[in-house]
Amino acid sequence: MASDSGWTFPTGELMKGKKGLVMGVANANSIAWGIASQLAAQGAELAFTYLGESLERRVRPLAESVGAKLLIQADVTDDASMDAAFEQLEKEFGTIDFVVHSVAFANKDELKGSFIDNTSRDSFLLAMNISCFSFVDVARRASKIMPNGGSMITMTYLGSERAIPNYNTMGVAKAALEAATRYIARDLGPRGIRVNAISAGAMRTLSLAGISGGRGMIAQGRAMSAMKEDTSMEGVAGAALWLCSDLGLSTTGEVIHVDAGFHMMGLASDDEG
Ligand code: NAD
Repeated sequence: MASDSGWTFPTGELMKGKKGLVMGVANANSIAWGIASQLAAQGAELAFTYLGESLERRVRPLAESVGAKLLIQADVTDDASMDAAFEQLEKEFGTIDFVVHSVAFANKDELKGSFIDNTSRDSFLLAMNISCFSFVDVARRASKIMPNGGSMITMTYLGSERAIPNYNTMGVAKAALEAATRYIARDLGPRGIRVNAISAGAMRTLSLAGISGGRGMIAQGRAMSAMKEDTSMEGVAGAALWLCSDLGLSTTGEVIHVDAGFHMMGLASDDEG
C-alpha cells in the first residue's frame, strides 16, 4: 500500500484482531504516523493521542484515513490528561494489545553547542520527564488493560550510546529511556508483554528540525552508514510491525537499530590515507 507520503507498506493480516494505542503523531512526517500506517495496513485497530488543540487539525484527518475510532488529546506531563486519556481508551477498547510510544521533547536552546554549558536543571528534567519517564508512566497505565499480553515499543536514537554533536540532553534522556525499556520489559515479561525500543537513524521530522544541524545529522548518518543511504520509514515501520505482531514473540528488552548500519561502523571512510 502506497501512502500519501510516498511510503509503501505491505498489506496483510498480521495485526488482524489486535487493538492498540499510537502516541506521538504530530503530522504526516512523524515516525508514529509511518508506524501507524503500516500497522493499519496489516489490519490493526488504532487509537491515537495527540498533544494540544493546534495539532488536532493535522492528526484528525490522518487518524480518520486509517479508520481510527479514537483520537484523544493527551499531554504526558499532565497526570489529569493521562488519567482521562486512558479512561477513555479503556471505555472504548476495553483491552489493548500494543502501544507505540513515539514521544520526545527537549528545549531547542539546549540542543546545540556545549552540553555542559547549555544544560540547565529545569530543561534537563523536562527532557527526562517527556522523553523517558512518560514511557514508564504509559507502560504502567497500558499494562492494566493488556490482560492478554502484547507489545510496547518506544523510539530512540544512537545519541544514547555515542556523544553526537548537539544531541546533548536528548542523548542522555534516550540512554535513560533504553535502560527504562529493559526494566519495564523485566516487570512485564511474566505477564506476556514484550517491551522494546527501535533506534532509528536520523529522519526528516518536526523533532529533527529542533536540533541544531539536524539536516547534517541525516547527511552524515548516510555517509557513515554501511548502506550509504538514509533510514527509510518503511524500514522503521517494518521493525515496528515485527515487534508489535506475533512475529516478534520471544523478543523483549531489546534496542533494535534500524539505521542502514550507521550504529556499527568504525571509521567512515575506506581511504587508507
Ligand atoms: P515528531 O515531532 O513528529 O514526534 C514527536 C512527538 O512527541 C510529537 O507528536 C509531539 O506532539 C510529541 N510530544 C512532545 N511533547 C509531548 C507531551 N508533553 N505530551 C505528549 N506528546 C508530546 O518527531 P519524530 O521524529 O517522529 O519523533 C518521534 C520519536 O522518534 C521521538 O522519540 C524521537 O526522539 C524519535 N527519533 C527520531 C528520529 C529522527 O531523526 N526524527 C530518530 C530516532 C528517534
